[in-house]
This record gives sequence, C-alpha cells and structure tokens, in this order.
Amino acid sequence: MTIYDLHCHSTASDGMLTPTALVARAAKNGVEVLALTDHDSLAGLAEARQAAAEHGLSLVNGLEISVTWRERTVHIIGLDVALDHPALNEGLQKLQQQRQARAEEIGDKLARTGFSDALEEARRYGSDTNVTRTHFARVLLARGAVATMQDAFNRYLKRGKPAYVKTSWVELAQAVAWINGAGGRAVIAHPSRYDLTATKLRELLGEFVSNGGRGLEVVYGGIDANVVGNNAAYAKAFKLEASVGSDFHEPNTPWRELGRLARVPKDLTPIWSEPWRTATPVINTTSI
Ligand code: AMP
Ligand code: MN
Ligand code: MN
Ligand code: MN
Repeated sequence: MTIYDLHCHSTASDGMLTPTALVARAAKNGVEVLALTDHDSLAGLAEARQAAAEHGLSLVNGLEISVTWRERTVHIIGLDVALDHPALNEGLQKLQQQRQARAEEIGDKLARTGFSDALEEARRYGSDTNVTRTHFARVLLARGAVATMQDAFNRYLKRGKPAYVKTSWVELAQAVAWINGAGGRAVIAHPSRYDLTATKLRELLGEFVSNGGRGLEVVYGGIDANVVGNNAAYAKAFKLEASVGSDFHEPNTPWRELGRLARVPKDLTPIWSEPWRTATPVINTTSI
C-alpha cells in the first residue's frame, strides 16, 4: 500500500527544513508520494523536485492558501497545480504583500509589548520574505518568553492577544478558482482545527463544493480515530475526496511526523484516484 503525505512545510514558509532536507526525511520515513504545501507559496517546489528525483520519491506540486471565510482563517490546499499559471501567481504575490505588511505590524505590536526587533529575528527563521506567526513564535520561544510554541500563540499571537493582527486573506471562491485554473485539486485542510460548529462547518463545506472544491483532509497529524471518523462522515455526505497529510513543520513533533499517518477509511474515494499531472518521478502506485 502506497504511503502518501500530501501536506507539509519547508523553509519556503514556516517549516524548519529546506525542501531538500524535507524530501530526504520523507523518503527515509517511507513516503512514496509527497506534496510540499507551503503557505501561500510555490517557491520550494523546484528544489523539492530535484531532491525527489534523487530519492525516487514522487513529488506532487502543492501549496496551502490562507483564506478568510466569515471573518475566520481557513486553509485550502491546492494539489497538482501548474507552477506557471498567471492568476495563481499574481494572487500569491498579493498574499505575500499582505504577509509582509502584517509581519511589520506584528513586529510593532511585539515591540510595544516589550520584545524589540522581533521581525528582524523572525526573518532569520527560514524564509526572510514569507513570514508567518510561526516565525514569531520561534522568536518568543528562543528568547525564553514562552515555554512552548503553543504558549506563544495562546499568550501573544492568537486572536484577542497583544500581537494579533486582523487580516483579510483571499476569499474562498477565489482561492478555489486559482487552484482549479492551475489544473489543481482544492482540498480543505484540517477541518477540525477551525473551531466551527457543525452547522458552520456544513456551510463551509457546501460553499466549498459549489465553488468547485474537490477534497477534504480526513487524516492529519495530531488527531484521534474519532475525529477521523467525523471527517470521513463529512467527506461522504458532501461527496468530497479524502486527502491525508501530516502538516509536518519541524523535527521532534512525533504527532505530525512525515508519513506516519493512519490510512484513509476504505469506503472513501481518495484524492489520488486519478493520476497526478505534476508528479515526478512517476512511480507505480497501482499495486495495493
Ligand atoms: P499565519 O498563517 O502566519 O497566521 O500562521 C499560521 C501558522 O501558525 C499555522 O500554519 C501553524 O503552523 C501555526 N499555528 C497556528 N496556531 C498554532 C498553535 N496554537 N500552536 C502552534 N502553531 C500554531
Ligand atoms: Mn504552518
Ligand atoms: Mn494549516
Ligand atoms: Mn499546513
């Protein structure tokens, strides 16, 4: 049975490993088909593709787009997208500008909270242009201001906390249109992490499907069998294809390690039932 991991991050966004090191780690863990899905960026894919060829691991193009849906942030994974689609690339450029502006505001807010030069330091953690809240959390952790990454979000970075900056990312329909326009497959990432009521989640899924969305991440790092079961029921009810991805960011987080995922429940259609267009090298994944 082929091992898939269709959600992870490199230094092109908030991951700690370069695309090369990430692919090497995935290969070592037995992953056969990997999608690198950096936040709002395709920048790591060329390097990852080269490394994939060296390891004989099949790489699928991917990204994770930040969407604002009813004042909340929702993440939409795009799998198998072409790298040269103009609308997608223009859209990502705009998201990068929003990230830059937000990062400066977060830096200012942290300065007012007593942490000077946080942005300058955040830029040194991986990508110097694609700065996320994860980068700021690492700064706070390194300075000993918090004990864990989770703490950094809970005390400073999440909604309602001193360094939170409200942002309007892109609309759901727009993100799906970019992905579909680039020949890709749109997938809602980690549905249980949005803190949505069942009613709201159904509204999100309905809107996603009517806008051309195709998949739901059913299995991901850090969830138990109950959540997998819930996600599977939603996938079935909305006729969404099932995806799996660790959401790996860094070593030493065993609950979201590359390739260490439960299987997709058998009665669901996996997002890989149709061959990928961007996967190289091509490996034989038909044997079960
Ligand atoms: P951003 O897109 O800049 O708002 O950053 C979002 C990223 O922060 C997510 O992709 C996660 O990697 C990370 N993140 C969000 N909430 C938490 C949390 N409570 N604990 C640890 N990391 C988090
Ligand atoms: Mn992240
Ligand atoms: Mn996410
Ligand atoms: Mn992610």
